[in-house]
Amino acid sequence: MNAIRSLPRLSAVLLAFAACVAPLAQAFELAPLPYPHNALVPVIDEQTMQIHHGRHHKAYVDNLNAAIAKDAALQGKTLEALFPGISQLPAAVRNNGGGHWNHTFFWQSMTRPGQGGAPSAALQAAITRDFGSLDAFKTAFKAAGVGRFGSGWAWLIVGSDGKLKITSTPNQDNPLMDVAPDRGTPLLGNDVWEHAYYLQYQNRRGDYLDAWWQIVDWNVISARYAAATSTAR
Ligand code: MN
Repeated sequence: MNAIRSLPRLSAVLLAFAACVAPLAQAFELAPLPYPHNALVPVIDEQTMQIHHGRHHKAYVDNLNAAIAKDAALQGKTLEALFPGISQLPAAVRNNGGGHWNHTFFWQSMTRPGQGGAPSAALQAAITRDFGSLDAFKTAFKAAGVGRFGSGWAWLIVGSDGKLKITSTPNQDNPLMDVAPDRGTPLLGNDVWEHAYYLQYQNRRGDYLDAWWQIVDWNVISARYAAATSTAR
């Protein structure tokens, strides 16, 4: 009888243990940069990349794991699965989940100066259709970045209607979240938090946005566009 009564208590102990170890197995991880810290010089300096990736991005990952560890219902899920319902989740998951996803996406969007190629024929055609020209697109994208008051991101997205759109989000929100004013599949995003550019550009955010085109990897952006439009059709 005593043994049977103790079973629920034993189960509770085992579950508590599982809750402690499970987040470790499922934890989000900070991947290394896809290039050396000095690869983006002279557009982004080496120290900015070291601090941005090694401290800021790492903090988002650590804080995201701490937030997920507190809620069993969130464990084992991808960020892409959480973003469409992010308005119902704790602010720590929104801020740090967005921080982790956005920075991972950002690092992969850049390459050494001059190595980024050009938009694919399909992406260039869509840019011309929706913005008039590549230069007009760049001007509008810069305006979105400069116009983002405080901290946030400028984005190029493709909507469910297949159209390209420029948008911006505050803090670490992104267009995959249900809180975003314009939702869609991100093709390109630029971090306009001061930590992204302040050491080299100080308050000249517009100069950072102008220089940034030198390191955008159009091969990656074009592949994202192809993937987004192939699943939409
Ligand atoms: Mn950042």
